Amino acid sequence: MPQTRMELPVLPASRNPRELPVDGKVPLVGKTREELAALLTEWGEPAYRATQLFQWIYQKGAREFSGMTNLPLALRQRLAEVAVPGCAAEEMRQRAATTRTTKFLFRLLADGALVESVLMGHNYGWSACLSTQVGCRMGCAFCASTLGGLVRNLTPGEIVDQAILMQKELPPGQRIGHVVLMGSGEPLENYDNVLKAIRLLHDPGGLNIGYRHITLSTAGLVPGIRRLAAEGLPITLAVSLHAPNDELRSRLMPVNRLWPVAEVVAAVREYAERTGRRVTIEYILIEAVNDTPELAAELARLLAGMLVHVNLIPMNPVAERPQFRRPGPERVRRFAEVLERYGISTTVRREMGGEIEAACGQLRNRVVRRHRG
Ligand code: SF4
Repeated sequence: MPQTRMELPVLPASRNPRELPVDGKVPLVGKTREELAALLTEWGEPAYRATQLFQWIYQKGAREFSGMTNLPLALRQRLAEVAVPGCAAEEMRQRAATTRTTKFLFRLLADGALVESVLMGHNYGWSACLSTQVGCRMGCAFCASTLGGLVRNLTPGEIVDQAILMQKELPPGQRIGHVVLMGSGEPLENYDNVLKAIRLLHDPGGLNIGYRHITLSTAGLVPGIRRLAAEGLPITLAVSLHAPNDELRSRLMPVNRLWPVAEVVAAVREYAERTGRRVTIEYILIEAVNDTPELAAELARLLAGMLVHVNLIPMNPVAERPQFRRPGPERVRRFAEVLERYGISTTVRREMGGEIEAACGQLRNRVVRRHRG
């Protein structure tokens, strides 16, 4: 039977803000150096003040103008009247007992919305997983973030502020070196804000995260993948496939009815050819759903000859999705072995802390439910 094409309605402007006031004031996080300079030169300040302000916001994570000691007192007072440095604050955190992983729940100061972010310590340094939307409307069957639907897009400042707040948690001299846009939300649905956030995360005068160390993870929004390929940014693209055929993928990821497997794979091929960068194929392994050796072989044939790397992620169980279980290590090993036999570069993501409600969206859902009573 032919599949019905799902509509992805355009978000109204109210759910796609570029900037949101905090208590009637303008948040400065999310503004480029040039935008800060425009504000300050209007006030008659020299251009170098914008660089100083930029460093306070993005490098030092200042939350008060009063502490910006190299700015004149009158300027600090004037800024405090109309602006705030940040736009998010910690609501709560969960630290994993066995790994250097901490999940944060951040409150967005404009409207109190909650988003999750994760700080992870690896042998190669610290990485941060950031959210790009409040909730998500992609409807992936195994995901907790989509259960309440999409509330709104995050502003560039709200995306970057998650990294700034987590950076402040690190011991002196240590920094976040890698960012993955893989928290709640579909980054390519919030394209303009996400691209601005990526450029801000990269700015050497701020968080200074190399483009090559920034990964954008998409559920497979084909027009967004093509648009991103044309940006010329050497970031890493990760595409969630989770199934090698339309029948299974449409069951797991409703977005497949809009952009089916063949279109997603063609866009990935184009992206890799155009940018010369290897694309990561994310594949969440769900026991007895998509983790059989036959499906591994089908996936391998689909990706044969492409500049891709497959990242296998044994599913983190989600309380609201009891029908989906994490496969045991033997099933995971067998799936990986089939891919490798076909010559597909493959890794299995190591456990980052099932004990901290690691599946995206679980912590937020629990807190939102508690607030609703
Ligand atoms: S897995 Fe990602 S794209 Fe899919 S519903 Fe969850 S947050 Fe959205």
